[in-house]
Amino acid sequence: MPLKHPHHQADHPGHGNRDIEVNPIFAREPLSVPRYALPSGEMEPETAYQLVHDELMLDGNARLNLATFVSTWAEPAALRLMSECAEKNMIDKDEYPQTAELENRCVHMLARLWHAPDPRHAVGCSTTGSSEAAMLGGLALKRRWQHRRRAEGKPADRPNLVMGVNVQICWEKFADYFEVEPRYVPMEGDRFHLDARHAVELCDENTIGVVAVLGSTFDGSYEPVAEIAAALDDLQRRTGLDVPVHVDGASGGMIAPFLDPDLEWDFRLPRVASINTSGHKYGLVMPGVGWALWRDADALPDDLVFHVNYLGGDMPTFALNFSRPGAQVVAQYYNFLRLGFDGYRRVQQTCRDVATSLAARIAELGPFELITDGSDIPVFAFRVRDEVDNFTVFDVSAALRERGWLVPAYTFPKNRTDLAVLRIVVRNGFSHDLADLLLADLRRVLPRLEKQPGPYRSEEDAGGFAHGAETKNPRHPGRH
Ligand SMILES: *Cc1c(COP(=O)(O)O)cnc(C)c1O
Repeated sequence: MPLKHPHHQADHPGHGNRDIEVNPIFAREPLSVPRYALPSGEMEPETAYQLVHDELMLDGNARLNLATFVSTWAEPAALRLMSECAEKNMIDKDEYPQTAELENRCVHMLARLWHAPDPRHAVGCSTTGSSEAAMLGGLALKRRWQHRRRAEGKPADRPNLVMGVNVQICWEKFADYFEVEPRYVPMEGDRFHLDARHAVELCDENTIGVVAVLGSTFDGSYEPVAEIAAALDDLQRRTGLDVPVHVDGASGGMIAPFLDPDLEWDFRLPRVASINTSGHKYGLVMPGVGWALWRDADALPDDLVFHVNYLGGDMPTFALNFSRPGAQVVAQYYNFLRLGFDGYRRVQQTCRDVATSLAARIAELGPFELITDGSDIPVFAFRVRDEVDNFTVFDVSAALRERGWLVPAYTFPKNRTDLAVLRIVVRNGFSHDLADLLLADLRRVLPRLEKQPGPYRSEEDAGGFAHGAETKNPRHPGRH
């Protein structure tokens, strides 16, 4: 049975169980094919291509999608390499040793970029994205904690993980799938992410680690990783509890090294055990590639590592999947080679310039108030001022959608569920020109919204495209 989805099958207006009609110009072909059953026979490749192609026209325009963090543009040369590598399976290290070698080089480049104390001894791997990388990072924390507890003759059956309630949904999944109690620090007042004091307050002998997010999904802000690490150093001095930090740098891991080189958030902090990033976000690769790195071999327990054949020898691997495309890893290496440090810096700086300037101009419009200004990761959130009572962020989102812009609106989690925001993610390819067009469209819809007698739309009408900034699932126990 397919997973239930609000847009599934018969729920979709106009579709029902009607077959797909094929354009009659393809006269040699069956003129209709079943929609939800495997067709009984073949059809010409060109006909099948046209059918699929036409159906996909209804997808949104990815370049106008300001909801996603994931790349929607790549250089033609990167796309060419990817299609040349379409058949490469990342796990076949023995068959494709050069692809494996490129993965290895990327890991070493990231280890240096993130200041691993001895980059040659940092360990890491590619993944399908930050979600898989988060699972691996979390599993390593859990296993390390279990080993230590067992060695001390203490129970190891009630692990917990401390994080802000603003973590991306992948951490909620990690906790749920791998049976770790999630301990969320709620938002409070103008604090929309984890802080050091509250992180430490939730730690105890069963805490496997603290997750600090560099670039919160909800508002783009950096969490104070160094302060959190210092507070945990202090906790260890006072109590002996040694709680490691995993940094979720899904976005920020590829922004901060280039734009905020003096910000200490990475392996320069001895307490940071592991870091993940999404190669397909500000790593500038098309979806899906991510990276997980550990500061040294001690941070990644041996018994989590499996071995595959590699040039007749053996290659350690740590992954949830077996088979996985290699093309994205090749594209990541291409980007590193092609752009270098300076190229990444220029691309990310442009994103930050577009984000901060667009945020400032939105703030000047009047009805909006910035939550963040795009100066951490190039992502910012803004709200409708309290005084405005006749339209909501959900009305604004819907009005922009009329022009093709996808700007998500959503409410914040505990204890700021009263606060609803819009969020704009500026990615490579969202130029100053496009930002001007968005602003012009926002200006154009405002007079209409301001004349509304009252709000038309509430949270229930919002599209489900907050990209991980959804409310934590109350179905799951132990999270509040
Ligand atoms: C996007 C994101 C994730 C999930 O990453 P994927 O690469 O989409 O799996 C995790 N954490 C944060 C902070 C993110 O922004």
